[in-house]
Amino acid sequence: MDRIVSNEELEFEGEVQKNLRPKRLAEYIGQESLKEKMSIFIEAAKKRGGCIDHILLYGPPGLGKTTLAGVIATEMGVNLKITSGPILDKAGDLAAILTSLEENDILFIDEIHRLNTSVEEILYPAMEDGELDIIIGKGPSARSIRIELPPFTLIGATTRAGLLSSPLRDRFGVVHRMDYYKENELEGIVKRGGAILGVKVEEEGAKEIALRSRGTPRIANRLLKRVRDYCEIKGNGVVDLNSAIKALNILGVDKQGLDELDRDIIKAIIENYGGGPVGVETLALMLGEDRRTIEEVYEPYLVKIGYIKRTSRGRMVTEKAYNHFEIKE
Ligand code: ATP
Repeated sequence: MDRIVSNEELEFEGEVQKNLRPKRLAEYIGQESLKEKMSIFIEAAKKRGGCIDHILLYGPPGLGKTTLAGVIATEMGVNLKITSGPILDKAGDLAAILTSLEENDILFIDEIHRLNTSVEEILYPAMEDGELDIIIGKGPSARSIRIELPPFTLIGATTRAGLLSSPLRDRFGVVHRMDYYKENELEGIVKRGGAILGVKVEEEGAKEIALRSRGTPRIANRLLKRVRDYCEIKGNGVVDLNSAIKALNILGVDKQGLDELDRDIIKAIIENYGGGPVGVETLALMLGEDRRTIEEVYEPYLVKIGYIKRTSRGRMVTEKAYNHFEIKE
């Protein structure tokens, strides 16, 4: 089953997802302080005819890091190259990308905390001095060559800033934590999505979807598409409050935006560990889930809404969660 909360862009979303991505800063909803900062950097860089400083964006998935990189590239009028930490397996992979960049281009590396050390080491001189040091050949005939790179901006994205090595973190001029979106911002994203998809979305319908989107634009758009499907088949094609509630209930997304795995996580801690503390590794094993999915995708929101507490001894369920799931302590 593909999950509503899933970290990945689901296959069927491909094209539509692209259309829903804002292209300009003015279309990018929310994240006001970030937008303000970015518009100043962009203007200043354009005035200088240079590129903007390297930027590190961190925060939960689906909050618009890739989208923002695209927006900055459009505003700057430069190319955007997208890659990710786990894909860049060898130093040569990164070297090939770096040497293909044109002046002031933007290189976006998603999951930058997952770069391996040999690749990361190539990045240091590239980010700092615009140089690429590569070793050609092996053994006694090996020699190092230095290539001058055009000025470029690296935008790194990570869900786990704490896992970044400090030499890498220190090389970013701008470090910004992306926060969950407010309800009215998500409502705006749902309405915008409706307009692009050609679906009539009533105010109350948009509100209901926003409420259950766990602060995340990617989920807001995903829920909108599923509710639209429901309305087309079971309703009159209009996303109103009633049809939104019905569709979202069928999808198993509750009033707080929690889905099946959220519930399983909370219940597993309560039923098997008396509410905790329990380590994330044990939890992952018990649920047959990937540890990273729990840690990077699910847990941050459960912590944010105060259902789970992270303690030094492990995860604990709070009273708020007991009340939500109507379980007695
Ligand atoms: P990940 O790091 O997990 O890839 P992300 O943070 O890069 O996630 P995006 O892929 O940029 O997230 O955003 C997901 C979707 O949410 C986009 O396709 C876009 O439609 C929508 N979106 C993101 N941010 C905004 C925004 N500020 N305004 C409107 N739509 C947005």
